[in-house]
Amino acid sequence: MKLNKSNKSEKLIVFDIKRFAIHDGPGIRTTVFLQGCPLRCGWCHNPEGISIGKGPKSKKIELNELFEEIIKDKPFYEISKGGVSFSGGEPMLQFKPLTKLLRMCKKSKVNTAVETCGHCNWEAFEKIIPFVDLFFYDLKHIDNKIHKKGTGSSNKIILDNLKKLDKRGCNIVIRIPLISGFNDDKKTFSDIGKFLSELKNIRFIEVLPFNVFAESKYSKLGKKIDEKFTKILSQQKINELTEPLRKEIRK
Ligand code: SF4
Repeated sequence: MKLNKSNKSEKLIVFDIKRFAIHDGPGIRTTVFLQGCPLRCGWCHNPEGISIGKGPKSKKIELNELFEEIIKDKPFYEISKGGVSFSGGEPMLQFKPLTKLLRMCKKSKVNTAVETCGHCNWEAFEKIIPFVDLFFYDLKHIDNKIHKKGTGSSNKIILDNLKKLDKRGCNIVIRIPLISGFNDDKKTFSDIGKFLSELKNIRFIEVLPFNVFAESKYSKLGKKIDEKFTKILSQQKINELTEPLRKEIRK
């Protein structure tokens, strides 16, 4: 594909790029981590990605340069049915240049995935939908008060956008962080199950326990994570807590 000269001035703010990623969508992928997030989750696994333009790894990269980095591994995407994933932070915060880059990837037949917390204007999703093969959609809590307490924001726009994406027929994988002291109770998982059972285009639901590697990132940044979020839950406990979710989905 010919690179576009007008993309020279357009940049994305990135804090990491991982090649050969295998947990961010199908096949072998390149995951681009975009900086900036409207939420402030107390347990965030990428605290270096929250404040836009801050930190030693923060870098503005031109779209053409990013595209060239992504396309390097096209042979690996082809043999593994992989592609590119955008994570963060919250990629939708930079949806304008991101939409352009996604369009370039689709033109070159690269599979695309976007991981989002869902907290953005619906108009941003409208723009990006045609160029995204798969959304990873984070769902943290159904109860608005508890959501606000844990993330600093209401979940209203998040739940509304999820319903709209589903209605538009987008492929969606739900990601639920299972965090002690925030959503580690059966009622929460039952409520999430009830909500999700109304939707039609959910491909998978992934429950992600607290990421133990996050703790060391906090100390590097001179920050402290609330200990209540860092408790490691046994697999048996995780199964017990999430059983109500499975029950609702099976109904
Ligand atoms: S939504 Fe994700 S990136 Fe943003 S603060 Fe929460 S965990 Fe961190």
